[in-house]
Amino acid sequence: MFSRPATLDDALVVLSDADTVVLSGGTDFYPQRLNQMTVGRSPEHVVDISALGELRGIAETGGGWRIGAATTWSDLATADLPSSFDGLRCAARQVGGTQIQNVGTIAGNLCTASPAADGVPALLTLDAVVELQSLTGSRTVALDEFITGYRSTALRHGELVTAITIPDAFRSESLDTRTSGVRSGDSTDADSSVYSSFVKLGSRAYLVISIAMVAALIVLDGETITRARIAVGACSPVATRLPALEAALVGARIEEAALDSAVRSVALDLLAPIDDVRATGEYRRLVVPRLIVDALLACRTPVAMRTQVAMPTGGTATGGTATAGTGLRR
Ligand SMILES: Cc1cc2nc3c(=O)[nH]c(=O)nc-3n(C[C@H](O)[C@H](O)[C@H](O)COP(=O)(O)OP(=O)(O)OC[C@H]3O[C@@H](n4cnc5c(N)ncnc54)[C@H](O)[C@@H]3O)c2cc1C
Repeated sequence: MFSRPATLDDALVVLSDADTVVLSGGTDFYPQRLNQMTVGRSPEHVVDISALGELRGIAETGGGWRIGAATTWSDLATADLPSSFDGLRCAARQVGGTQIQNVGTIAGNLCTASPAADGVPALLTLDAVVELQSLTGSRTVALDEFITGYRSTALRHGELVTAITIPDAFRSESLDTRTSGVRSGDSTDADSSVYSSFVKLGSRAYLVISIAMVAALIVLDGETITRARIAVGACSPVATRLPALEAALVGARIEEAALDSAVRSVALDLLAPIDDVRATGEYRRLVVPRLIVDALLACRTPVAMRTQVAMPTGGTATGGTATAGTGLRR
């Protein structure tokens, strides 16, 4: 059965039936469905939410930002947002290609809960919260609790993700601590000391699933980091923040040698990269420190100039050893 409700209330009524499944942009749904059909799973009641205009769009609220669940990557990439969102906007530009970005949605990315979901690291650095609604009420869950494991979430039967909310913590902090930070990016907000970025390593420059990716969000006092949030994806079942590294970066100057030294001073033991078709775990472990430094340095590059996926130089990411190809090319 298939339905395309016109209102959120109608969608929640349909979703309360047994064996319903949500369809949004369909870019994960259809490939997953093909897999299910090959193992003989019977079709469910599909609820297409693409007619629910109220789920789409980005709005500033009293305490932060609200991104509707059906907001597409193209919407995000072109939105006028503060610099703390530059990392998320960069991720948006690197999810698949333009066709995928035009229909793929932020909530679809989170609900698929792939370790390689490009939206997750930047949203973790933003302390994103997932807003859920069902016929019986609504609740909110912090993103780091919403994705509970490999392709698993805290979504309950009958629930729809209605929005992702972002608190405004960095904006108020930056205004308090702002000194001589001069923003070289292309945002026009007042947060001149807040910078964020996203870097993705893939086997080719476009339309590629991440081997590893890093989101960084920093506050600078002049050239010195006063606060840092770092999240790494595709190197553990769920993308993760690295609190020990975040602490080690405080006080570091935003220059390559100092950042490299801070990154290498910390054991990145929250990461547990595995071997898969895209790369070996060993290779991922080797390149992540470099990707983190790249992400930090990219913070001060204009967003329009940092959309390309990094690629290994020489060697292969899936070879038996990871001694070659640890340099990254853009
Ligand atoms: C060619 C191709 C390239 C891709 N490249 C990338 C890439 O580079 N990086 C990347 O991260 N992803 C990539 N993807 C995956 C995909 O495009 C993204 O994850 C996208 O954001 C999914 O959004 P969607 O709206 O299409 O989700 P859908 O496919 O509609 O749904 C995905 C899952 O989420 C559930 N769902 C969706 N919305 C809601 C909601 N509001 N409430 C509750 N459940 C919901 C659905 O039931 C389904 O289980 C790619 C996919 C394709 C086909």
